[in-house]
Amino acid sequence: MTDAAASPVYLDGHATTPLDPRVLEAMLPALRDNFGNPASEQHMAGQRASLAVETAREELRELLHADAAGWDVVFTSGATEANNLALRGTLAAQIITAITEHRAVLDPLAALERDAAVEVVRLPVERDTGRLDPAAVEAAISPRTRLVSLMAANNEIGVRHDLATIGAITRARGVLLHTDATQAVGHVPIDLRDLPVDLLSLSAHKFHGPKGAGALLVRKGTKLQPMLHGGGQERGLRAGTLNVPAIVGLGAAAAIAQREMETGAARVGALRDRLLAGLRERLVDGVIVNGPPPGEWRLPTNLNISIEWIDGSMLLPRLAPRIAVSSGSACSGVAGASHVLRAIGRTSRQITASLRFGLGRFTTADDVDAAVDAVADVVSGLRAIDPLYELHREGVDVRALPGE
Ligand code: PMP
Repeated sequence: MTDAAASPVYLDGHATTPLDPRVLEAMLPALRDNFGNPASEQHMAGQRASLAVETAREELRELLHADAAGWDVVFTSGATEANNLALRGTLAAQIITAITEHRAVLDPLAALERDAAVEVVRLPVERDTGRLDPAAVEAAISPRTRLVSLMAANNEIGVRHDLATIGAITRARGVLLHTDATQAVGHVPIDLRDLPVDLLSLSAHKFHGPKGAGALLVRKGTKLQPMLHGGGQERGLRAGTLNVPAIVGLGAAAAIAQREMETGAARVGALRDRLLAGLRERLVDGVIVNGPPPGEWRLPTNLNISIEWIDGSMLLPRLAPRIAVSSGSACSGVAGASHVLRAIGRTSRQITASLRFGLGRFTTADDVDAAVDAVADVVSGLRAIDPLYELHREGVDVRALPGE
């Protein structure tokens, strides 16, 4: 993936990740021969398909340490559906969340607020890092609160919430905890034996699996109403014929992640650090890290920076021939401006001039070096024509200027 002339280096892993070739191999039989409907228990074609689905369910359980005695695994079309099921299905009167959640949580909550008179409490986060103080969650819980929904890791700035501490609080207060773990699953360890969450959403294509398959993990005993009614699949929690090939792919991706996560996370984290060090070295100054510093509270796959003294609107178009990165998230839509960067106190200019990098299993050191070169070239070109950069070099504090 380093031949810039052929195709740009892909560093947008938070939007989606490339399918692992081993996952594709695992999926092919389910597309070709194993075409049965897993609900057709009366014949072998159905039984074989059902076996493939149950193998995938087992592989996912192993990745998350979610044994059958403690957890139900409900396969869905992805994290959006899993989030909707969790948020709607718990029939909560009051739900607490954070303003930096993905739209796949914020939008269903806004719809619930509108249509079902659910009260939604949206907590602010810490400036610069995006961290959430568990004490703020505790303070927000009222007797009406039934559910807290907080992501395991943010899709823009990679910040991880302290779910162990927050879960201990929700549990003590008799409140359910849902986590949108879409960006964390397969990249960092999640152990549901000791993580006090009740509902967890994930999506296969974020960890080198296929699009169109995801899951909601439901702790046994958690009352949940289905959204889709029909053939009674998935213990009545999600009707509809299962997407067998994609579910098989999800399982294969989970099995690979389980085997390779430890070395993979260390390798990717080191590449991310190389990226940041390279950018800092080449751009000298004016690189602001959005989110927490690399370490325990940041995904190893993520870097998000704002670059000062450039016209940010020119950044992505100029980078696009060489690297695939994004500004904000793929899902923030045409409105564009990142609500996450806004929430951590970035100015409009800093938000426009931001870059989100998402590294993954197939990212190489050459990819990272090519990205550093591309960003350095483009930024120095933009700074050369930016009057603010000229002022900065003359010693003016441009951040204090009007409009900043
Ligand atoms: N939650 C988070 C944190 C995400 O990053 C995404 C994908 N961008 C989703 C939910 C939605 O996933 P999907 O589109 O696969 O349903």
